[in-house]
Amino acid sequence: MKIKRNILLNAGPSTTTDTVKLAQVVPDICPREEEFASLMKGLRRDLLKIVHADPAEYTSVLFCGSGTLNIDVCLNSLLPADKKALIVDNGAYSTRAAEICAYYGLDHIDLKFPVDEQPDLATVERTLAEHGDIALVYTTHHETGTGLLNPIREIGALAHKYGAVFIVDTTSSLAMRPIDVGRDNIDFCMASAQKGIMAMTGLSFIIGKTAEILKSANYPKRSYYCNLFLQYDFFEKTGQMHFTPPVQTIYAAIQGLKEYFAEGEEGKWARHTRVMNAIHSGLASLGFREYIKPELQAGLVASAIEPDDENWSFRRVHDYCYARGFTIYPGKISTTNTFRLCALGAIDTEDIEAFFKVFREALQAEGIAIPVRYRN
Ligand SMILES: *Cc1c(COP(=O)(O)O)cnc(C)c1O
Repeated sequence: MKIKRNILLNAGPSTTTDTVKLAQVVPDICPREEEFASLMKGLRRDLLKIVHADPAEYTSVLFCGSGTLNIDVCLNSLLPADKKALIVDNGAYSTRAAEICAYYGLDHIDLKFPVDEQPDLATVERTLAEHGDIALVYTTHHETGTGLLNPIREIGALAHKYGAVFIVDTTSSLAMRPIDVGRDNIDFCMASAQKGIMAMTGLSFIIGKTAEILKSANYPKRSYYCNLFLQYDFFEKTGQMHFTPPVQTIYAAIQGLKEYFAEGEEGKWARHTRVMNAIHSGLASLGFREYIKPELQAGLVASAIEPDDENWSFRRVHDYCYARGFTIYPGKISTTNTFRLCALGAIDTEDIEAFFKVFREALQAEGIAIPVRYRN
């Protein structure tokens, strides 16, 4: 079978290998069979290895849904009654977490920082010191909307100093940038199968401290489908997801993990880094500016600033590239017009070089000046 290979430079789902795609083509199976439960057991165990989580202390819990489901589950399940959540918020994904708190009516502080800077740790600490009822600190590791990396180890240390559980959205970093839950002070992290493990959409997972999940059995139940303890408990008792799992997606995820471990944590991070470097130099060669300072970037997403050229149209440049198998992605910053090029997925430097050839052609076809121009 020949499957057309598209280069996805959006922030996930990413380009997958054919072996991952084809891993979904399997005999039909009822997921309540023992055979399927044992596949999920292996998958749950292998997910821990990615973040170096000790199985005596951490567990992983699978859900059917996209990555936002993990944010929802962690927040609605892990906040005790009469306690407060602190959202360290410098981007769209942490803002999403604050919105989830608002939807559930959870007492929370949305501690906002500029989207192009790391959060000020002294302000985080002062907030923790002033509010003794904060039981949960939440942030995003890699803010995918901008490409910024947050200092999770330092924020986690502060959370622990004030007796709070630390939850990190690692959806766009896990299985890409090395993470070690012990070293990085993480109690809970999360991702979905279509990002770092380069598999298919529809499967999400939370990796976290078993003792905290057990404690949460007595916390208010705010959702039926999306409760962490209930899903964990069902897995432990039966080996199954509480409700129907995304069967074929799970086969793809298992293949994705196999390929992850074959490439290795360091090898994979080195490949993402080389892809990102090729993106930086491609952008620079056309005169594009980037929104986030290089030293603050996570090395996985570049936010390029749109040029001040009357012929510039993201839509038209996108369409030109898309028709040739390359997908570029709009920005997610309210104050500046940007577009994103991401280094996720099963791609390498030659794909980026091929992309920039097409991208340059697109600029020329649209009559956009090269190097691109900015008003100031
Ligand atoms: C992709 C992503 C998510 C999940 O988004 P979905 O659209 O629900 O898959 C959550 N957090 C971050 C940081 C992400 O990059």
